Amino acid sequence: MPTLIALITRLDQAEEDAWLEALTAAMPNERIVSFRTLDPSQRHDVEIAIVANPDPADVAALPHLALIQSLWAGVERLVSELGPNAPPIVRMVDPEMARTMSEAVLAWTYSIQRDMPTYAHQQRERIWRQRPYRKPTDMTVGLLGLGALGAASARRLTKAGFRVVGWSRSPKHLPDVEALSGEEGLAAVLSMSDVVVCLMPLTSETRGLLNTRRLAQVKPGAALINFARGPIVVEPDLLAALGSGRISHAVLDVFDEEPLPATSPLWTHPHVTVLPDISAPTDRHTAAEVVAENVRRFRRGERMSDVVDANRGY
Ligand code: NAP
Repeated sequence: MPTLIALITRLDQAEEDAWLEALTAAMPNERIVSFRTLDPSQRHDVEIAIVANPDPADVAALPHLALIQSLWAGVERLVSELGPNAPPIVRMVDPEMARTMSEAVLAWTYSIQRDMPTYAHQQRERIWRQRPYRKPTDMTVGLLGLGALGAASARRLTKAGFRVVGWSRSPKHLPDVEALSGEEGLAAVLSMSDVVVCLMPLTSETRGLLNTRRLAQVKPGAALINFARGPIVVEPDLLAALGSGRISHAVLDVFDEEPLPATSPLWTHPHVTVLPDISAPTDRHTAAEVVAENVRRFRRGERMSDVVDANRGY
């Protein structure tokens, strides 16, 4: 009989129950139990925890934990709350999430290419003005981050005819993508791109990365799409770049504070699209299958992939 698996979340009961149901359906041979219902002797036996924003004290209450599987792709909060001595953390890498994110990247890139934000504004003002048409092949999209989500987005954008350049921490080779790294690579990507798409994890290196200095390197009139994490972009610096016209439009799905406070100037800014963190919602059923495969690998003693490097922070 395999040891119990603990599900540790700070989700409301209905949402946690829905996860429990999906995970149990994906792993009928495992016993998955909410941490909330574990008694002390059961806690002693747990080797695997499946977590979503867990209380760190709950994780610490499992003395024989050997694997933490995150239900979320972004793990900055988990890494910082659990600290460097936590058991290995595996993050969520779900092809369905990559598909959904690349769909959002393509949709909003098309929206910029076809000037939809400008036409929406013109309609409100009853302005009849045609803007010159730009072909995808005449536009460069710069992807900041070429990981699971960035690489999938690059594939979709190149297929749609856009020229794609990308930036990552380590050098990458992706078909039809000019992939750069380092500070100079970032400056080049920013200066070449008509649309800059942020798909990086939030780490000590990426927090505040897109500040006044970096935004001044952006091609004049380029658009910015942030589908990663709010604090990667310095909000007041972005507002200044939008004010000066350096950045023509920003599509923001993530913010320093969520929900975005009603007092935020972003809500009513004429050159900002505010989205409520919907670019790539987690699909509970495909995510549960990803977890099931990782649990099988762990049980067979195989090497785990997508393990978070606590020093790198992602
Ligand atoms: P990933 O596979 O870990 O890829 C991250 C990419 O960012 C990699 O290419 C990495 O470079 C690059 N990177 C990291 N730090 C960097 C730095 N300091 N300088 C340059 N490049 C850096 O992550 P993912 O699965 O694609 O997800 C990316 C992020 O998207 C997540 O962390 C999460 O915050 C966010 N997300 C948002 C939503 C949403 O709905 N809004 C949904 C899911 C995820 P290397 O390739 O060299 O490692």
